Amino acid sequence: MSEKTLFTRIIEREIPADIIYEDEHCIAFRDINPQAPFHALVVPRKPIAMVADATAADEVLLGKLLLAAAQVAREHGHGDAFRLAVNNGAAVGQTVFHLHVHVLAGRSFSWPPG
Ligand code: 5GP
Repeated sequence: MSEKTLFTRIIEREIPADIIYEDEHCIAFRDINPQAPFHALVVPRKPIAMVADATAADEVLLGKLLLAAAQVAREHGHGDAFRLAVNNGAAVGQTVFHLHVHVLAGRSFSWPPG
């Protein structure tokens, strides 16, 4: 069996995290190295490495992740202004290979992103 991802270890409470949302499909916790006043990660329980590895079977799950991201932003007072980011692959900065949606809010953001 392949080794558990860092985020699976957080989901299973082997590693502590500031968990702010949880349902049967996904979990959200604050990023350990926040890049905005509010910075959470929304993570599916299923350890898909990255978006490119998702399949048609994950179609509903991917939708649930976005809905959870919006809910988390809303619950923390950022329902009308938040940025979602998903890194896919080491070349664009992905460091944890368990799919996650960054939810960033509480400051202004430039476009295009760096
Ligand atoms: P990525 O670079 O893969 O898109 O994002 C990974 C994110 O996970 C980074 O923003 C990083 O700060 C965060 N992270 C890495 N290790 C931990 C950890 O142990 N706990 C928490 N809460 N966040 C982590």
